[in-house]
Amino acid sequence: MSTSHAPALDEASSRVILDEAQHVAHNYHPLPVVISRGEGSWVTDVQGKRYLDLLAAYSALNFGHGHPAILAAAREQLDRLTLTSRAYHNDQLGAFAGALATLCRKDVVLPMNTGAEAVETGIKVARAWGYRTKGIPDGQASIIVADGNFHGRTTTIVGFSDDPSARDDFGPYAPGFVHVPYGDAAAIEAAITPHTAAVLIEPIQGEAGVVVPPTGYLRAVREITTRENVLFIADEIQSGLGRVGTTFACDREEVVPDLYLLGKALGGGILPLSAVVGDRAVLGVIQPGEHGSTFGGNPLACAVGLRVVEMLATGEFQRRAAALGEHLEEKLQSFLGNGVTAVRVAGLWAGIDIDPAVGTGREVAEKLLARGVLVKDTHGQTIRVAPPLVIRSTELDWALEQLRVVLAA
Ligand SMILES: *Cc1c(COP(=O)(O)O)cnc(C)c1O
Repeated sequence: MSTSHAPALDEASSRVILDEAQHVAHNYHPLPVVISRGEGSWVTDVQGKRYLDLLAAYSALNFGHGHPAILAAAREQLDRLTLTSRAYHNDQLGAFAGALATLCRKDVVLPMNTGAEAVETGIKVARAWGYRTKGIPDGQASIIVADGNFHGRTTTIVGFSDDPSARDDFGPYAPGFVHVPYGDAAAIEAAITPHTAAVLIEPIQGEAGVVVPPTGYLRAVREITTRENVLFIADEIQSGLGRVGTTFACDREEVVPDLYLLGKALGGGILPLSAVVGDRAVLGVIQPGEHGSTFGGNPLACAVGLRVVEMLATGEFQRRAAALGEHLEEKLQSFLGNGVTAVRVAGLWAGIDIDPAVGTGREVAEKLLARGVLVKDTHGQTIRVAPPLVIRSTELDWALEQLRVVLAA
């Protein structure tokens, strides 16, 4: 293990981290900072030191920490009704679903909680559609997925990951998935057979390091899947809801998939809320009793989700992401050759490949932590930047200046 470049820890933080190490399963390797408060784009640690949050909980905090409008919706609902189960109707689900369907230009919403559940739901819907509507022989449905994908952590999903640390030793893996290279529409076309129910891709691959496919890819995938009677499922859990300067990453090519998988920012940074959104012709295959979730569609989550959708419907956050993203891209381009080997930017979202001569992604993240900026490394040499969409351009500039200093050292 390399020496730490993070600031020396105070006693209170050390105690918390030690406690965690003793009692929490070691499934994460967090940066050594203990956060106790958050407001907008800033968080405060237990010692009162402030940090600019450039990760935003992997885009779950698109509206920042404690957005007043989202908090107000949550507080109001918290005092009225929080959970009914779907055994009964509640007075929030319909309004939320209607608003979200409109935002997606679709008919129907199937509410779940986490992103992985939305992906699992999409897989079940695609298979049921394949058998009941397309007429695929029983048990033969297959789904085309991309190399380098990240769709979550369930046993089925990790089975079609090609990341050894996500997959190894968690088999046996569910069959029914076919891999193709990401960004290659011809490979999808060649992989389609009469048993193909769906193509499942991220319109931009987040965990892979903000990998943006070639222009025209999404359009080609739409054209091919329509022609071949195959569902196009877009996992927009990280790329959607304003992050890339449009409501969805698919909007960049004016493409509407058959199913949107949404999560992360849908819960307003307050609670887990995910959804599958599509037309009745597809989502209508699911009958009562075939799928569900105790917490899915709960009134508290729906009240929060409705407020999030209302905020997105104004277009304000998408415009901010687009404008700030242009600025971010311009600045990051100037880092090329100065400790940075490649940058990929889509809206207010960037993957920055760090020159190994400067250090690993983790080392850069630790040095930025010492300077009051929170980012997270991915795949060794890459830093992912996904600030809250409410960040000010002066704050973004300050953070990028800290990065410039770290890279120059
Ligand atoms: C985060 C993520 C998921 C999984 O979401 P969880 O809420 O962590 O289960 C799935 N797909 C993509 C693209 C993601 O970024």
